[in-house]
Amino acid sequence: MGKKKKPLGIALVGLGKYSTGQLAPALMEATHCHLAGIVTGNPDKADRWMKKYDIPEKNIYNYSNFDDIKSNEDIDIVYVVLPNAMHREYVIRAAQAGKHVICEKPMALTIEDCDAMIEACKKASRLLSIGYRLYFEPHNLEMMRLGQKKEFGEVRKIVGEHGLSEVEGWRLNKALAGGGPLMDVGIYCVQGVRYITGLEPLAVTATEGIKREKEKFKDVEESLTWQMELPNGVVATCKTSYSEELDLLRAEAENGWFEVSPAYAYKDIKGKTSEGSMRLPQVNQQAKQMDDFAQAILDGRPTPVPGELGRQDVKILQAIYQSMASGKRVVIH
Ligand code: NAD
Repeated sequence: MGKKKKPLGIALVGLGKYSTGQLAPALMEATHCHLAGIVTGNPDKADRWMKKYDIPEKNIYNYSNFDDIKSNEDIDIVYVVLPNAMHREYVIRAAQAGKHVICEKPMALTIEDCDAMIEACKKASRLLSIGYRLYFEPHNLEMMRLGQKKEFGEVRKIVGEHGLSEVEGWRLNKALAGGGPLMDVGIYCVQGVRYITGLEPLAVTATEGIKREKEKFKDVEESLTWQMELPNGVVATCKTSYSEELDLLRAEAENGWFEVSPAYAYKDIKGKTSEGSMRLPQVNQQAKQMDDFAQAILDGRPTPVPGELGRQDVKILQAIYQSMASGKRVVIH
């Protein structure tokens, strides 16, 4: 008996670490979508993926013939998993080819890029979502509930830390990455502060950390600390780094505290509160994220992680970099 095909077909653009290690395996577990095609500049990779995932040759594209995807009915969704600076071009090309789009985080390098991407998807009447997998992860969803429903009273303090210690390649190149660890992993702390409170920061103040490896980090920051002022008077304190492993999201409220650590990993997320362990299930975050997007398309409803959410993060990231450069507090308009 032939394997039943899942309803919506996804084409992954860029078969690097994240597509290979997380997204393709997650698509094997998804129920409302499946891996229908790939876009890669490397013919050997195309061959390996075609065999491994049983992808028909007609659903294999490269960066030059990518626009032909327009006439391919097997592909409903294009998932852009390229270096940050390439997100804008490929999201717009995907929308112009009539496909719904998922774009990896950070959405793009500038607000102008984000606006052009949102506009292209609107014009084509296609849905656009950002790869914010933690919106589908039970412990992080619990952080949102505890904070926004004020289960421990008003939140008084938030700490977010996310850092990696082994980074190479385009992530160290400002033209391709847009910046250093802030663009890559610090963005999760910005997200965390926003989803614990449901509030938008009014201003940020940032300080670059000391560069210990001057040659490696000649183009981007090695580490960065920043504060986000929220309209309820809370000041969130955050840190990101490319030379230190960090993984924490914590809130202290009037009547207790709640935290996740590791908070942003792909698996084994651990959450606890002043009342004990969160005892929540571990899930395949990427499978849930892609299934939800497929369902949103099938049901004609919005995605909880739209382009506008990614755009707001880019706006905050830009303000943080502006503060880092000027040494001054930057108000977010
Ligand atoms: P990677 O370096 O492993 O893969 C990048 C892919 O892009 C490779 O296949 C490479 O061949 C291709 N590429 C095409 N043109 C390129 C160019 N000019 N320079 C470099 N590579 C080029 O990167 P990755 O870790 O897979 O990250 C890709 C995107 O996914 C980034 O935007 C990153 O922020 C995002 N990401 C998200 C998560 C998440 O948890 N949501 C995790 C990892 C990465």
